[in-house]
Amino acid sequence: MTTEITSVRVFDGNGFSQPRSVYFQDGLFVAASKAAQVIEGGGRFLLPGLIDSHIHLSGLKNLEKAAWHGIAGLMDMATQDPQVVDRQRNLDGLPLIRSSYRAATEAGSTQATKMKIPMIGSPSDARAFVKDQLSFGADYIKIVLPNRPLSTGFNADTLRAAVDAAHEAGKKIIAHAVSTAAYEFVVGSGLDVVTHLPLDACIDYGAAESLAREGVVCVPTLIMMRGLSRRLKLITRGKVDFKHSQNSFRVLHDVGIRFLAGTDSNDDRKSPYQPKFGSALIEELRLMEEDGLSPREVLRSATTEPVEFWDLHELGRVEPGRLASFSLLKANPFDGLRNLRSMNNVWIGGRNVR
Ligand SMILES: [Zn+2]
Repeated sequence: MTTEITSVRVFDGNGFSQPRSVYFQDGLFVAASKAAQVIEGGGRFLLPGLIDSHIHLSGLKNLEKAAWHGIAGLMDMATQDPQVVDRQRNLDGLPLIRSSYRAATEAGSTQATKMKIPMIGSPSDARAFVKDQLSFGADYIKIVLPNRPLSTGFNADTLRAAVDAAHEAGKKIIAHAVSTAAYEFVVGSGLDVVTHLPLDACIDYGAAESLAREGVVCVPTLIMMRGLSRRLKLITRGKVDFKHSQNSFRVLHDVGIRFLAGTDSNDDRKSPYQPKFGSALIEELRLMEEDGLSPREVLRSATTEPVEFWDLHELGRVEPGRLASFSLLKANPFDGLRNLRSMNNVWIGGRNVR
């Protein structure tokens, strides 16, 4: 059965079209054809399914909440249990999942003990870790960089071994970095993505320029940095401060780094902060706008940019053959991303979920 939605203004990665009809059948957009079901679009604004480029999946509820907020793709950035991810992949009417499976960090670090994640202390550890994740079917590799310059075996050689092993398998490699030292360690490392922002100080302009020149992509997770800073500000006597993350974000934008929107949404009670699936991405997009991106840049960071970067060509555009995953908004998001709150209908893979 073909469904037609009449009179919608479609976001194409640049702007919104004149009101037109879109058609879908069996979960996919199709070319204009005679429709059995016609839905009045009423001049509303159509956004292709959004993508959250940093989450931690724990169950089906996460996917349902994300779908309700117009999210059609979730990039899992570390799980304790690969089976949790595998159970949620490829479910009808729910977001697509990609995953790094486990993440690794420096042997003996507090993160390793707290988060119970694999530790690497030498180039051979790094290669073995990457091989394990590939054996689960990892879509990319994730490393947690320590906050301070590295004293143990987790040095530039170890990181280089992880980067090379990932790239030899054709996979991208992502680094968690929440300090300026960790950010500087990414420069020249060959890492593809840096996620989070420094909390201890503003990133050095020269380091930011180098990252941009090397084509490193940033998933800032402003909402997580704000949550962490509120939690840690007192304990660290003000050393940790969200304003450092915001200033770093502005510098990274200034030097022209490519951003992918992500939230770090998780349900882990041991995590210092738990952004909520779905609503956190809507808030993250608003924070990105508040810190200097145009609505167009922000919307691209959650649609066309991640589609291209993560190779999610099922999503991102209204085109025959792509998944019919999209939301409808009553108000124009180009007038301000507060208008994302006017989202009132969502389809994921052709299923009407809101
Ligand atoms: Zn995370």
